[in-house]
Amino acid sequence: MKLLRRLAWTLGIVALTVAAFTIWVIWPGKAPVPPPLVTDPPPPWEQQGATQYIPSVDPPAAAPFTARNEACDTGAAPPGAAAVNAASLTTMVWSPFGRPEVGWEIYAPRIAAEIDTACAPDTRRFAALLAKWQQSRGLKPTGVMDLSAFQPMLTGWHLQRPFVRVNNTGICPGAPLLSGLNTAKPNESYGGKTIQLRPGALEAYRRMVAEARAAGVIQRPETLTIFSGFREPAADAARCERDNNCQGLVRTICSAHRTGLALDIYIATAPGFGPDSSADDNRRAMARSAVFRWMVVNAGRFGFVNYAYEPWHWEWTGEPLLPGVPIKSLSQAGSAPVEPAPSSIAPLRQGTGSAVVR
Ligand SMILES: [Zn+2]
Repeated sequence: MKLLRRLAWTLGIVALTVAAFTIWVIWPGKAPVPPPLVTDPPPPWEQQGATQYIPSVDPPAAAPFTARNEACDTGAAPPGAAAVNAASLTTMVWSPFGRPEVGWEIYAPRIAAEIDTACAPDTRRFAALLAKWQQSRGLKPTGVMDLSAFQPMLTGWHLQRPFVRVNNTGICPGAPLLSGLNTAKPNESYGGKTIQLRPGALEAYRRMVAEARAAGVIQRPETLTIFSGFREPAADAARCERDNNCQGLVRTICSAHRTGLALDIYIATAPGFGPDSSADDNRRAMARSAVFRWMVVNAGRFGFVNYAYEPWHWEWTGEPLLPGVPIKSLSQAGSAPVEPAPSSIAPLRQGTGSAVVR
């Protein structure tokens, strides 16, 4: 009798384990390709009679975007909101990703896409659509860009990434076998580096680049070349331990690059910076580039989503992530939190942006 009961228990536990494993394998299932941030017609960044969106550091391309009839100087904007945005765009002091930044120009293309406009951040229409967006989220419709508006946007952008959704459950997705990866062609890699990706991601990348080229936003040979693809977890872990810089914002012990679905793509650089420098000047140069603004509104059609802190980091969502392991079970070397200096006046962390992940 005792033996039977023990047998029943064992069978029960085995059944539960199998069920849990099955659920994990089929979940998140076919990650749905997120809808494009802006639907047809794709928005232009320059329009007749409107303020130019943001001046680009790229040489002007020949009318790369279809004109869109938006009257940027009109709209039901709260009084004064456009003027406040015009000033804060380059002066607001805030810490959306846990470290102080000045202005929100870096995020302006993404915000514009979120509220569905091609108008410049200092226009009445931008403020009016921001107010409408705030209202739709239950926020006070001030029409003014600030942390309280940015935080829910950022959370939504993070959650567009299947990698983040899995990370949020405490799981680090698995890495594919090297034999299952394809290698980018030499002219697709930055500086001749060997770049490997899951085949579907590489194919989607190629379709996107072909369309970007047709749109006229590829203006340098290195534009949209890949400088990092699949990274072996063991090599990443060794680097974390060596450099002790895997605290989460720029690097992490569970990198999206282990999935074979993440790519770092050359967008643009400010003088003196490399394509992966997160210096604000460098990220601002990227935000101003025609190719990034094209990516923000078009990459979603090819299944790519971006990590908002890094204009160069994109993840393909066309196929499910592989089953993973608890993040806690990974080596934590190099992930010790950086203690803020005791004399620090401003809080080091604000907002939800510090949660993830490159
Ligand atoms: Zn990356």
